[in-house]
Amino acid sequence: MHLKSLTVKGFKSFASATTLRLEPGITCVVGPNGSGKSNVVDAIAWVLGEQGAKALRGGKMEDVIFAGTSGRAPLGRAEVTLTIDNNDGALPIDYTEVSITRRMFRDGASEYEINNNSCRLLDIQELLSDSGIGREMHIIVGQGRLDAMLHAKPEDRRSFIEEAAGVLKHRKRKEKAIRKLDAMQVNLNRLGDLTTELR
Ligand code: ATP
Repeated sequence: MHLKSLTVKGFKSFASATTLRLEPGITCVVGPNGSGKSNVVDAIAWVLGEQGAKALRGGKMEDVIFAGTSGRAPLGRAEVTLTIDNNDGALPIDYTEVSITRRMFRDGASEYEINNNSCRLLDIQELLSDSGIGREMHIIVGQGRLDAMLHAKPEDRRSFIEEAAGVLKHRKRKEKAIRKLDAMQVNLNRLGDLTTELR
């Protein structure tokens, strides 16, 4: 799976529509301090469904919308589209190219699209769930996060690795199945009691 391009419009410092073509071989983005390098990474996290304003280095979610500068009025909405090359079929959808769009308005309303079709955030999360781009966003390691991972407790570090390997989903399913089995056992015990009483 390869991220092909990112289009940002009204997102943080990107007031005008800007497209970054992420050709194979691009490994870094360089620029002066405050030029918007981290905003590019924030845009990727945001379009993939990030829900925490803090993770996007803001106080509230609306902070992602272009707030205006001395020469340019604030905008009313932010929009990001990430286009993914799906020739290897990493995403379970019958398209060789998949574009994911997220849009947000100042009143807090959000819209999501997969290949220009409206969808729910859940649809995007499910589409990405087996691709290694999990909800916890371990593909994006922010400044300071590396330290946190290195100093994490072994069980927390294990959960990072499990999510990256796609094991976490199966662990959650197993836990759910065990809870169901436990509930079933309680019902069976109750049935046994009733049968004994009726004899
Ligand atoms: P550094 O190298 O210092 O880490 P950077 O290139 O990563 O910098 P960013 O943190 O991506 O820079 O961008 C910071 C810039 O984005 C600041 O100038 C800030 O004013 C601007 N910015 C952030 N949010 C908004 C917003 N909602 N509207 C307008 N500008 C914004």
